[in-house]
Amino acid sequence: MASRILLPATLGAAALALAIALPQACAARPAQHHAAKAAPAPASAAVQPVANAPRLIVAISIDQFSADLFAQYRSHFTGGLARLATGAVFPSGYQSHAATETCPGHATILTGVRPGRAGIIANTWIDQSVGRAKKTVYCAEDETATAADPKDYVASVGHLLVPTLGERIKALWPASRNVAVSGKDRGALMMGGHAIDAVYWWKGSGFTSLDGRTPSAAAVNENKSLAPVLAEGAPALALPEWCKAKDRAVPLGAFSVGNGHFALAAGDKGSFRASPRLDRATLDLATELLDEQNLGKDIVPDVLSVSLSATDYVGHAFGTEGAEMCIQLQELDLALGDFFIALDQRRIDYAVVLTADHGGFDMPERLGEQALPAAHRVSKTLLPEALSAAVAAKTGLAAEGLVLSDGASGDLWLRRDLTAEDKARALAALKAELIANPEVAAAFTADEIAASPAPTGSPETWPLIARAKASFYRPRSGDLVLMLHRGVVPIPAPGPGYVATHGSPWDYDRRVPMLFWRGGMTGFEQPSPVETVDIAPTLAALIGLPVPAGAFDGRCLDLDAGTGTTCGAAK
Ligand code: ZN
Repeated sequence: MASRILLPATLGAAALALAIALPQACAARPAQHHAAKAAPAPASAAVQPVANAPRLIVAISIDQFSADLFAQYRSHFTGGLARLATGAVFPSGYQSHAATETCPGHATILTGVRPGRAGIIANTWIDQSVGRAKKTVYCAEDETATAADPKDYVASVGHLLVPTLGERIKALWPASRNVAVSGKDRGALMMGGHAIDAVYWWKGSGFTSLDGRTPSAAAVNENKSLAPVLAEGAPALALPEWCKAKDRAVPLGAFSVGNGHFALAAGDKGSFRASPRLDRATLDLATELLDEQNLGKDIVPDVLSVSLSATDYVGHAFGTEGAEMCIQLQELDLALGDFFIALDQRRIDYAVVLTADHGGFDMPERLGEQALPAAHRVSKTLLPEALSAAVAAKTGLAAEGLVLSDGASGDLWLRRDLTAEDKARALAALKAELIANPEVAAAFTADEIAASPAPTGSPETWPLIARAKASFYRPRSGDLVLMLHRGVVPIPAPGPGYVATHGSPWDYDRRVPMLFWRGGMTGFEQPSPVETVDIAPTLAALIGLPVPAGAFDGRCLDLDAGTGTTCGAAK
């Protein structure tokens, strides 16, 4: 690509100002616009995309696709993942922060900033000031709004504090289209951002959008085509030859996993979601949106974000090393291949980045059989009820709701009505209780994290507190962050649909592949660690989007295999 990509020599001040000024209240925008794009080159923009900039950026996140899974299955891919593996391959991408969950991970990919700066510290946090009984706040909800169904919530991207790449492009070149689709609302919203032309995610039995938006024909058609499968079920999927060795039941008490082939019973929506069928549906909708949203049709680059959630649901439900994950990755590879062929057929000049929001870890029952006997499930001593009792015993404070958390790892909060003195005593007691627990690797108070230096250097060697700092945002973070030892799985007991997970500060959850691909490019492999926050600056430079200094936590990765550069002056 050496000769194809050049940065503009000068960046106008007006353009920079435009790039900085971003829409603030777009989450409540009414229905998306379906009109064809206006002619390129809006008069207000002094800066144009670089010559030969791709006309469409396709940003793909495979939920829970660890660097380990990519390495394990790489030689078997023949479809879309095989194509991307001929591009610029960074097998050691890092979701470098400690809270390796879906929402923070997706928030890094197209913002170029770490989750703390994005304000997305975790999938959920506890905000004791919210004016409702439930104090747990979901990252992609508007907790100040009331859903029509009291058991539901109002989806929103309002918690995201920074713009996405698609928003930055739209701010400078308003004709650009910013479209996102996912199996999860947080996947679509955190990649798309606030100013988004079309956004869809899977919910229940079909794709839906933000409140106030009427699903377009593409979504309506996709939902219609899926209805018979959901209603009538579907047969098991084929087991590839190389999956046979993994096709073995591992008992987990009353049920077992490891040998599932995704036969779908009539009406079983949950099993549809935790299967390759969800990803195929998401990519089918993405394909329909190419046409409906006129993506990639003019010189102003568009952004299509695709977050594929089934790998995560499969990982949680069946672990990462059974026949289920093997079939899932085979089917995903083929579905991605078909999606890229659909792009090729439309003669769109597109560039792809594919990564993951976090990695994953198998269930300890199978890990124990497979040479990792140290892996085990966390004890219940780290759940908030047990910690509340322990801290109450040490301090004399009332135990009821003294320590609050969503589980046995991550952020912990103390009851907010404590006096400053009692809070300090409780915090010291809590920290002492935690670090004395043999399952705990580290426990940092908010003050300790706030005072620690910002992470620098290779994410591979960051100390644990730096990893915590990368997903720390004081107004939302806990009073203390708890990290379990490597190999301690924070699910005390497995249940159907939830046997394995991610979320730790360890590399099995932090390392993800980062693959960049464009037609005609010369591929290369760079095994040294990079970060997912490098993706946005890399893509911004690829299209010649001016971005203010300091806007990103990451750096531009030069995608030119030779002496040229795709990073312009930023290299
Ligand atoms: Zn995820």
